[in-house]
Formats: sequence, structure tokens, C-alpha cells
Amino acid sequence: LDVHDEFTHRTLATDVMRPRRNDPPLAVLTQDSTAVEEAEALIKDTDYSGFPVVVSRESERLIGFVQRRDLTLAISDSLVYFTEDAPQLPASDPQPLKLRRVLNLSPFTVTDHTPMETVVDIFRKLGLRQCLVTRSGRLLGIITKKDVLRHMAQMMNQDPESIMFN
Ligand code: ATP
Repeated sequence: LDVHDEFTHRTLATDVMRPRRNDPPLAVLTQDSTAVEEAEALIKDTDYSGFPVVVSRESERLIGFVQRRDLTLAISDSLVYFTEDAPQLPASDPQPLKLRRVLNLSPFTVTDHTPMETVVDIFRKLGLRQCLVTRSGRLLGIITKKDVLRHMAQMMNQDPESIMFN
């Protein structure tokens, strides 16, 4: 990740982040209304390394980021929540599962207008694996290290594999 070519100046985080225009939406968890079934389905149906946690699907306010492996280890037959206090549930319901301990509350974020040159710098200097993209606090997308490498490879019109693995 050591490229300072002119192309990086013209590209913004919004050009590299996922999802792309026709992709399915980001796979996210809500902070206190995710059923374990839903979390299980996310794990089964996607192979993303992690998932952003948002306040609600309506607000899309970013709360944090949970690694796939931590989520997989933690879930069982109950509701999961990332808030301090358990959500109010009928006494007959299964006890909700507090997942705050596996939540990264300060995931790295950039705005959609951040130049890719800056994004590349941040990835390199901080050794990031992923970075979330927001506008006015709303979650818009995600950029992984591989997305950055793939983008750089495309810009240089090379086979991405050759850059990633050589
Ligand atoms: P790989 O799994 O092949 O190593 P990767 O290192 O980019 O890829 P992943 O987390 O699996 O890591 O992401 C695969 C692709 O999906 C990337 O393009 C990334 O931007 C996108 N992505 C990652 N997490 C999510 C998510 N929660 N929702 C939607 N897209 C995501």
C-alpha cells in the first residue's frame, strides 16, 4: 500500500467503498433489535469479515463494528444487544445476549469525500483491515484493505492478484 501516483488524488472514498450502486445494501446489525436468527442468517448467507452496528435501520447511525468470528462465538438462542442495558422484554422471552464486549466502539471512519490518497495513507499507517464510510454520521459503506488494493490495481491496469500476492 505504498502508492502516491496521481490517480489517488482524483479518487474519493465514495468511489471505492461498497456497496456499489447495484449491490445489495450493507450487511449491518442493529444495536438492540437483532434476533439471533438474523445474526445467524448474516453469518450463513455472507462471508464478510465483520458487520457495522447501527442504531436502527431507519437512522443508520453508526455505533460500532463487530468481527464475524466474535459474533459467531457469542450468539445462541436469544436476542442480542450492544447497548449498556438490556432491552425490555416480556419475562417469558429468552434472556437477551449482551454483545457489547465484542463491539469495537471506535471503528475507523472516513467521510465519502475523503480522497483515496488519504484513505490509502490511513490504511498503511494504522494497519487497518477495514474502514467505514459515513456522511453526517450516517453509515454509507465499507472499504476493506482488499478493496483498496483492488482499486489501486485497477487504476494501474494490472491483475489485482499480482499486486496482492507478490
Ligand atoms: P476477502 O474476504 O475476499 O478476503 P475482504 O478482505 O475485502 O475480502 P470481506 O470483509 O470479506 O473482506 O469483504 C468482501 C467485500 O465485501 C469487500 O468488497 C467489502 O467492501 C464488502 N463488505 C465487507 N463487509 C461488508 C458488509 N458488512 N456489508 C456489505 N459489504 C461488505
